[in-house]
Amino acid sequence: MAKSIGFIGLGIMGQPMALNLLNAGYKLRVYNRTPAKTIPLKRAGAEVASSAAEAARNADFVFIIVSDSAAVEEVVAGKGGILETLKSGALVIDSSTISPSVSRKMASQAAAKGAGWLDAPVTGSKHGAEKGELTFMIGGDRAALDQALPVLQVLGKKHIYCGTHGAGLSAKLAQNVIQSTMVEIFCEGFVLATKAGVKPEVMLEIIQSSMARATLTDFKAPFIFKGDFTPFFPLKWMHKDLTLAMEAAYAQNIPMPTAAAVKEVYSAAKAQGKGDLDYAAVITLLEELAGVKVRTSAEASHRDF
Ligand code: NAP
Repeated sequence: MAKSIGFIGLGIMGQPMALNLLNAGYKLRVYNRTPAKTIPLKRAGAEVASSAAEAARNADFVFIIVSDSAAVEEVVAGKGGILETLKSGALVIDSSTISPSVSRKMASQAAAKGAGWLDAPVTGSKHGAEKGELTFMIGGDRAALDQALPVLQVLGKKHIYCGTHGAGLSAKLAQNVIQSTMVEIFCEGFVLATKAGVKPEVMLEIIQSSMARATLTDFKAPFIFKGDFTPFFPLKWMHKDLTLAMEAAYAQNIPMPTAAAVKEVYSAAKAQGKGDLDYAAVITLLEELAGVKVRTSAEASHRDF
């Protein structure tokens, strides 16, 4: 019999992931807290559930991709959460980036119902989700991953096993510490160069001809230069991940001086009301402090401020 899937969370990431599963022929029952986001999935043939519990009823696999630890706890263990209906032998695949310890707690509550649990956070952002080219970082039982692999292959090009429950999330937090810092320091460098009169496109040519070149900043630069901060990955979620990384560092007695400083730059941008913009909008805070804009359009000179 075809495997049936419950899918919870239809935000920037969940929406295209769920569509890819439908297009691959899986039977999907979807739930989103804000019902309007289920409309495109319903049009594409998904059944719409009125709660997370209903989405999980009789499902072989239950995917979750919601914002943070509190949201996962709510859709799993809250009223109308999946623990009310999760069948024995089902496998929960949680792709939300959350606290590894909260994830381990959820995994043990699912185990009490006879269900498996994988922490399976992703990288690749909105375009990776749309193309089915995400990279998964996976924690939990190796056998459960093998069971999930045919479904995960619809969503991603790489599925990297990291170890026991929570290990996928620990890897994801480390990855976002690196990624957030790369974008922030790229922005600092470009603000410095632009203020001194070096055009952003000239600076980019230099970076792309040097060892500092990176796929990430190659991707972000054109959006920054246009001042287009439509969210691929909202700044408030990058700030969340840096906060989780700092908590993990504290728990393990690991000093992370640069990440701590970078977290506060994102924190300041978020406090300015930029949380719903893409995390590359961190540059606007640095621009405001320096009195310059890193734009390639005619009006973008530092004389604007
Ligand atoms: P998003 O667009 O903000 O979507 C968040 C989803 O969580 C929405 O479906 C939202 O429902 C749901 N939600 C929030 N609180 C909830 C609650 N208390 N109960 C039930 N549902 C709740 O975020 P996203 O960009 O898709 O990110 C989702 C997760 O993936 C996050 O953990 C993020 O860190 C991670 N991630 C994102 C990216 C990326 O590039 N965007 C990349 C890798 C990992 P409503 O529609 O009702 O608000």
